[in-house]
Amino acid sequence: MDASGNFEAKLLTQKDFSSQRPALLGGSPVRPEGPPDWPGADADVRAALDEAFQCGDWGKYHGAALPALEAALREYHHVDHVLTCGSGTFAVELALRALKVGAGDEVLLAGYDYPGNFFAVHAVGAMPVLADLDPKHWQLSLASAERATGPQCKTIIASHLHGGLIPMRQLMDLARRRGLTVVEDAAQCPGAVVDGRKAGTWGDVGVLSFGGSKLLTAGRGGALLFRDEEVWQRARAYQIRGNVVCPLAELQAAVLLPQLGKLDGRNARRRESVALLRQGLRDIPGLRLLAADAGADLPAFYKVGMQFDATAFGLDRSLLVKALRAEGIALDEGFSALHVGRSPRRFRAGDPLSEAQRAHEGCVVLHHPILLEGEPGVVQVVRVIGKVWAWREELQNAQLLARRASE
Ligand SMILES: *Cc1c(COP(=O)(O)O)cnc(C)c1O
Repeated sequence: MDASGNFEAKLLTQKDFSSQRPALLGGSPVRPEGPPDWPGADADVRAALDEAFQCGDWGKYHGAALPALEAALREYHHVDHVLTCGSGTFAVELALRALKVGAGDEVLLAGYDYPGNFFAVHAVGAMPVLADLDPKHWQLSLASAERATGPQCKTIIASHLHGGLIPMRQLMDLARRRGLTVVEDAAQCPGAVVDGRKAGTWGDVGVLSFGGSKLLTAGRGGALLFRDEEVWQRARAYQIRGNVVCPLAELQAAVLLPQLGKLDGRNARRRESVALLRQGLRDIPGLRLLAADAGADLPAFYKVGMQFDATAFGLDRSLLVKALRAEGIALDEGFSALHVGRSPRRFRAGDPLSEAQRAHEGCVVLHHPILLEGEPGVVQVVRVIGKVWAWREELQNAQLLARRASE
């Protein structure tokens, strides 16, 4: 029997599910210990910390780890210039400043994006222009971006989100045609390959995050990748104002170096898990992965984003998330769309935002650590979703009763 046959055999059937109550209705959780911890124990990180302690660099402005990390990032991404900094959010702001975006300029981004990117545009005094998403995979729609681009538009922020990838070759064509620069936000997908190149190396500036939940983590931190020396120099000049503003510290760089060496292997393992997950969820209605099924691209999974159709599945999104959480699976709702609940004076809607609205209401994301567990972890996720689906009416009714009782 082939591997996928074995995998299918480990999944449960509808009949099995009806005898197992969901944890939210008083049954036993599939994963009582809860989601896996992140970052996990790593002997090489421990060794790096020991080394920084031994040589005293842990408490110094300048040591060996920071230059080594910047060199390793340059080599890994095949770019000439890298600048580390205090966070991915700050990296986006720095990227905009380095590209000379300021008051009176517009910056185009998807109406569904990391909220910090919206604030970064305002931080430099520019105005966000929101474009819609591609209905297929809920990444920035190039057609909508084209329509939304106006004469004040200077830069596009292109974020690869939830395991999806923006077709960067086409996006760069569009940007060049319209005379725009591009900030490519690869905070969620370090090491991904899109159109034959590493994510973050297509844009005029690429952004990485080393935040505490991310695939490369130092608790906090970020980096910028540059193709152009002048843009890199401007970013540095802005960061060094008397002293370095929002830097990455030696100790953070020290723990990132061994993680960078393991990134490709871990990304591959996460991709294998997502392929199994796709297979396991095939027969569940109303859940579709954002990541493309096959092709030359190699996505990376900080989150496994899914389009959730509450009507087709038969359960409210908030209830799905609650039911999975009760089973010990780290599923969450996605971002709030950027146009929702904001004063229309804070942005320009460059195009109708109907898909961004749909993502706002229907995106769910599975957190990445369970993907490194391979098949056993995926089997748990699929079983939990199958169980919750089999019990959808009971779950929905229980919520109705609870609401009535509290009224
Ligand atoms: C996490 C993230 C960032 C930056 O995050 P920091 O926590 O500030 O490092 C930027 N963009 C996206 C898409 C992200 O997911």
